[in-house]
Amino acid sequence: MKSMDIFSAQKRIAKIGATGFAARWRAPIAPALALLAILAVTVTILLVLFRHENALQRNQLMRDMQSIEVSVTRELLADQQFVDRLAFELAERRDANAYFVLQAEEYVRQRPAIANISWNSVSSDTHLYAPQSRARADILSERPAMEELERIMRLTEATERGTYTNVYRDYQQHSYLEYHSPVAHNQTQLGTISVTYPLHRLAELLVPANFTNRYSVAIMESDIATKREQAETINDNLSQSVALTLPWRDVRLVATLLKTESSLTPRILAALTLAMAAFITWSLLALRKHVKRRDEADLALVASHERFETVTEALDAAVYVADLKSNEVLFANETCRQFFSNASLNLEAGADVSAIESGFDAAPSRIFAASTLIDADGKHLGVQKDEFFHRTSNRWYLLRAKCIQWVDGRVARMHMASDITDRKQTDELNRQQQEKLLLTSRLLTVGEMASTLAHEINQPLSAIASYNQGCVRRLRSGAWDAEEIASTLEKASAQAERAGQVIQRVREFLRNREPTRTAHNVNDVMSGVAKLVELEAEQAQVELKLKLHADLRPVLMDRIMVEQVVLNLVKNAIEAMKNTNLLSRSLTMTTLPSGDDVVEVSITDQGHGITAESEAELFKPFFTTKPEGMGIGLNICRSIVELHEGRLWFSRNAGAGSTFRFTLPVAA
Ligand code: ADP
Repeated sequence: MKSMDIFSAQKRIAKIGATGFAARWRAPIAPALALLAILAVTVTILLVLFRHENALQRNQLMRDMQSIEVSVTRELLADQQFVDRLAFELAERRDANAYFVLQAEEYVRQRPAIANISWNSVSSDTHLYAPQSRARADILSERPAMEELERIMRLTEATERGTYTNVYRDYQQHSYLEYHSPVAHNQTQLGTISVTYPLHRLAELLVPANFTNRYSVAIMESDIATKREQAETINDNLSQSVALTLPWRDVRLVATLLKTESSLTPRILAALTLAMAAFITWSLLALRKHVKRRDEADLALVASHERFETVTEALDAAVYVADLKSNEVLFANETCRQFFSNASLNLEAGADVSAIESGFDAAPSRIFAASTLIDADGKHLGVQKDEFFHRTSNRWYLLRAKCIQWVDGRVARMHMASDITDRKQTDELNRQQQEKLLLTSRLLTVGEMASTLAHEINQPLSAIASYNQGCVRRLRSGAWDAEEIASTLEKASAQAERAGQVIQRVREFLRNREPTRTAHNVNDVMSGVAKLVELEAEQAQVELKLKLHADLRPVLMDRIMVEQVVLNLVKNAIEAMKNTNLLSRSLTMTTLPSGDDVVEVSITDQGHGITAESEAELFKPFFTTKPEGMGIGLNICRSIVELHEGRLWFSRNAGAGSTFRFTLPVAA
């Protein structure tokens, strides 16, 4: 069987099964691509930022180099001028030594970049220096080697101009540079005045502080400076060198950009981006795991729905599911179409459940309202059921309803309808049969009663006749007493009344009608029946005992029917005692409350009792041990009691005879 193609939930499920997985796989790929794109863009931006910052820094460095060069050159030139002037003046002065000390001492104090100023005589016998506060040994340690001094001496003599020494190192490998200016008198070289610069500290002493904060500045020989600049470029550090125009000396000023905070920003950005990418990757993996779990759950759902479909399709009952709120049909099996289908039944997608339910004589959506299926806290209640007649198919259905959660999470009501038309018809036939039996039984009982009734009516009639004759006799004799006559006539009319009552009861009993249940006291029924069988009991010499409970709650019953049950049981009891010992023929009619809401009636005799063989057949129709018996009395009695939701049974007495009991529920 194939299920109807009308239900969106099924389609949704189908989608999960077919295209859902592809869509779910696309889901993590899209963010992955987006992540890659973000990364690419961020890396590009970072590169551009790096380049831009590099270019800015390089420009800045070049500008700064110019300033540094100007500043350093100015300082060195100022020193050159001072030394040149001092050398010139000393050549002319007699107090040259004192003058040197004075001037040099004063100048060296103002110029921290200068390690010392020395007067170097040609003969090397005089060596004056400033500052004199320093030890001679210290001064000498920062001076060039003798050969270099001699070379400079010769050079200055030849050129008659100041010059710089080569860069030289002390024993600590600190490099130094000196400027020498010749002191000559009358074409005779007397020596030189030199100023010594500690090159390793020169930059820091000469370069303004605002540059040294940002650059590491050094003055070094050209070839070393070039090598250093190349190395820095390879290391990607910004470095720039510029030649200082010093006489006879090719030295260069090298500035290398220090790592500043500003250059850290792009790195921090890059680190943040990487962290972000790592976080997004982690999120993606988590998302994928989650999606996988959902897929598995969906698959399980699909499988369970398929099972549900297979089971419902195999059922010989119509099953349909509708949204509790919107009444939209979510599922219906093929049997639904067979049961309720007609030309006008709309089974298109999203159909309203009324398409299925409109054929019922009562609306299931009203009978099984949401409040009967689900409580105030949203808890699903148990299965509800009711019988419905379906007009269109002209059949009876037992409709069960239950609240369920549908696959897509919606709260729905699920119905299962089973065809109970055959059972209904059988029930009706049974009911009619019972009715007929009841009537037959009544007629039979009345037939049996006819002879005793004749006797009963005959009794008062003969009594009336004898009372009348007595009166007539007294009146004729002339010796009569009015009071006596009146009393006799009253007795006669009482007898007539009794006969009338008997007839009235028989008429009532015979009236054929539908059972009607009204509240009655069972005691009244018992007394009524007792009166009815009074005569019969008398004839059978059976003593009737009534033990009626004084405080009985009323019972909802068809009085005539219940009377018939009691009558039947009492007559059976009398008949059971017909051939027993005359002394022990008593019949007890008892009423008792049993529990809070049941009344129990019992008829106890001292008759021949019931054999084990009879017991099995007792309530079966047409079982009788009597020659004129019909054998339907007990069967009808049990049906009537059960019709009143009661129970009828019998038990053997401890002594002789048996007791028949039945219960009836009290009126609510
Ligand atoms: P009927 O009275 O026409 O036989 P019933 O269905 O009333 O039909 O009774 C069936 C049989 O049950 C009787 O024939 C009798 O054998 C037995 N029976 C009924 N009531 C009693 C009783 N009180 N004591 C002994 N036997 C009884």
